[in-house]
Amino acid sequence: ATPTALMVGTGRGAQLGILIKGPEVLETTRRVDTIVLDKTGTVTTGQMTLLDVIPAEGVDTEELLRLAGAVEDASEHPIAQAIAKGATARIDGALPPVEDFQNLEGVGVQGVVLDGTDSHAVLVGRPRLLADWSQALPPELESAMTAAADQGQTAVAVGWDGRARGVLVVADAVKPTSAQAIKQLRALGLTPVLLTGDNATVANAVATQVGIDPGPETVIAEVLPADKVDVIKRLQEAGRSVAMVGDGVNDAAALAQSDLGLAMGTGTDVAIEASDLTLVRGELRAAADAIRLSRRTLGTIK
Ligand code: ADP
Ligand code: MG
Repeated sequence: ATPTALMVGTGRGAQLGILIKGPEVLETTRRVDTIVLDKTGTVTTGQMTLLDVIPAEGVDTEELLRLAGAVEDASEHPIAQAIAKGATARIDGALPPVEDFQNLEGVGVQGVVLDGTDSHAVLVGRPRLLADWSQALPPELESAMTAAADQGQTAVAVGWDGRARGVLVVADAVKPTSAQAIKQLRALGLTPVLLTGDNATVANAVATQVGIDPGPETVIAEVLPADKVDVIKRLQEAGRSVAMVGDGVNDAAALAQSDLGLAMGTGTDVAIEASDLTLVRGELRAAADAIRLSRRTLGTIK
């Protein structure tokens, strides 16, 4: 079903690029007191770039890039695209072909890379994924992961044929307007909460950059996609009225569960369909605009 999209406050809503699913949404904007913000693609640009390549001892950097890049090339995740693009730029020739590719939502990717006459079962993702296959990180890779996370960067581990082989560091920039948007949301009486599948160190570094004090109530990290909806439910059970802003497939259930779901117009169709409001320009300041304008529109209607 395609719900009729109304422009909030007509002319002004159109100007601001805010689409609303129905008039009942307006009422909800009055009572929301908490706003859950997805990190990747919402608070940050989601445009990651490959910054660093750290091979384990004895591993060839070019091979590390070829194998990790090949598997990630089959995924649309922002981390995957950064790695595939960065690897392609750094290696001689093209990325080798992949068979039996699997996307492990919120965890990583796996696939068999046909590298010349060799074939390797390759994993790229959270260290936990490698640990599940008994590929523990050697100390030099552990410290590379920690160093990256301390700087607010995302590091993923790469392993193949039963061994951890390297770490790849990607970084995603905070959108220049996110800090201002969060200030505006606070001014509307909303308490911001950062929600992400990424690790706590990265999440805290991003939170600090946008003016959210890190703490267990304000930064909720390492949440698997299927568990994001439980975070919303938990807040609701604690008596909060929850708005959520998200962009990804992994945000859809949580957006649907929240009292007021706001989707980034630059995000996935699934997120947009699950939401009450769409922020066409994909900019967090529009969330504050939408809530302010909806409340005001209601004021003039009543
Ligand atoms: P977010 O909630 O911030 O949008 P995700 O839930 O999509 O992030 O991913 C959580 C974590 O899982 C990432 O930070 C990364 O460590 C790992 N991950 C997910 N997909 C991939 C991938 N394609 N390649 C490498 N790592 C991945
Ligand atoms: Mg996201």
